[in-house]
Amino acid sequence: MSEASELDQDFDLIIVGGRPAGASLAARLGGQGLRVLVLDKASFPSRPPVSAPFVLPHAMALLDELELDEAEYAADTPRMHEFVLEFGGYFRAWIGFEPLAGRDYVYAVDRARFDHCLWRKLARVPGVITRERARVTELIREADRVVGVRVALPDQDEPRSVRARAVIGADGRRSLVARSVDAEVTVERRDVDTTIYYAHWEGVAPYQDGPTIAHIHASCDGFSFVFMPSADGQVMVLAQGRSDYWGALEGSPAQIYEGLLRARPAVWRRLAGARRVSELSGMKRVGNLFRAPAGPGWALVGDAYHQKDSLDAQGIYDALLGAKLLATQLRRWHAGDLSWDQAVANYGAAAHAALAPMFEATMDRVKRELYDEPPPFVAKTILRWVLTHPDYARRFSDLATRRREPEGFLTPGVLLGLAARGAAGRLRARLRGGADRTDPL
Ligand SMILES: Cc1cc2nc3c(=O)[nH]c(=O)nc-3n(C[C@H](O)[C@H](O)[C@H](O)COP(=O)(O)OP(=O)(O)OC[C@H]3O[C@@H](n4cnc5c(N)ncnc54)[C@H](O)[C@@H]3O)c2cc1C
Repeated sequence: MSEASELDQDFDLIIVGGRPAGASLAARLGGQGLRVLVLDKASFPSRPPVSAPFVLPHAMALLDELELDEAEYAADTPRMHEFVLEFGGYFRAWIGFEPLAGRDYVYAVDRARFDHCLWRKLARVPGVITRERARVTELIREADRVVGVRVALPDQDEPRSVRARAVIGADGRRSLVARSVDAEVTVERRDVDTTIYYAHWEGVAPYQDGPTIAHIHASCDGFSFVFMPSADGQVMVLAQGRSDYWGALEGSPAQIYEGLLRARPAVWRRLAGARRVSELSGMKRVGNLFRAPAGPGWALVGDAYHQKDSLDAQGIYDALLGAKLLATQLRRWHAGDLSWDQAVANYGAAAHAALAPMFEATMDRVKRELYDEPPPFVAKTILRWVLTHPDYARRFSDLATRRREPEGFLTPGVLLGLAARGAAGRLRARLRGGADRTDPL
């Protein structure tokens, strides 16, 4: 069959978007008798328009289920067993990772390499056809039901129609599928939105001697900075700020970005001898929302369905998890056990239950670390006692890898207990004397 005539058939599903959500969904549906077409306007390997690269152990466990090779998606990328959170000039908290699926480390992957592994995987999946440089321009509807797409292909002058029983929008934050069906925004948080810009650098000074670690500097003035040692010796350096504060700064995004880095000695000390080797990427007002998950002949997954601030680095995991939950229901729909409406209702309920609590936890953390500016006395005492306590580190690691329910993460009782034990620990450390790695640099 020629490339063009392959698209003449009626598909069970057309998936728009072939990165974490779309590619993993197709991989899970392959070999089940479904005819699946994945369309992406990008060509691979390429980076997604805006994304930082942290991949945590729980996301890697989902990649294991897809039989993705860690040695490939994390090639030449350092393992980080720990990260340091500098809280202004007040103190430092050190967070390690409890083993999960045999891993007590995280990566800051090269997203081009990582996404390409997912895309390449689809070539080996029976029943799945892929097209890159294939931009979906509109949806085809019949009697209010989505029944296909119009797609512009590189070798054709005009967009062509392709039909399917349903269309899945895995097409990211600015999802064309979501916009075309007018998917309702069901939850939105605008009160804590942030603006983020980042670039790759070479020659960045290490944080300290010893193993490579991730470095977060919360400057306690509405801004935060992250050093992510990534593939091939490059470091992604990200600046994040309250959107209202960022919006008040004058200059181009690149001027503001560099100005912010230079103004923080704790950040610039690592960059003074380094050079930026990529374009600046980023976005103003990162969205925090859920959309309606599905309707007649369509469903949304990944960022198209649910997007949030990147502070807790949950986006890739959430996209992979959402795809897994959707695949479970689509298999039952295809087998005739469930109608489309039943299948997507189950998916919507399961996805919301799995994603909403962490979403709220991330919103709380953005508020705590970027919006609340604690008085120095509070930062030096209660905050330090809590955030530097080893139990806090364990709790945080469990939360970030979704082993702990967010509801119980920092209840008033937990806070009180951590503060009391933290204060006692600080007192003992002072009496003992000697170096304290929670002291600021
Ligand atoms: C600043 C920032 C930092 C982040 N940092 C992290 C992090 O450290 N760790 C983490 O886990 N997550 C992070 N995220 C979130 C993460 O990037 C996303 O959650 C994840 O990429 C979502 O995957 P996806 O497959 O849903 O969408 P995407 O990765 O956005 O992929 C969507 C795909 O759809 C394609 N597409 C779009 N429109 C069309 C069309 N009309 N026709 C055909 N194809 C189309 C695009 O080309 C793209 O390939 C960050 C996000 C931001 C904004």
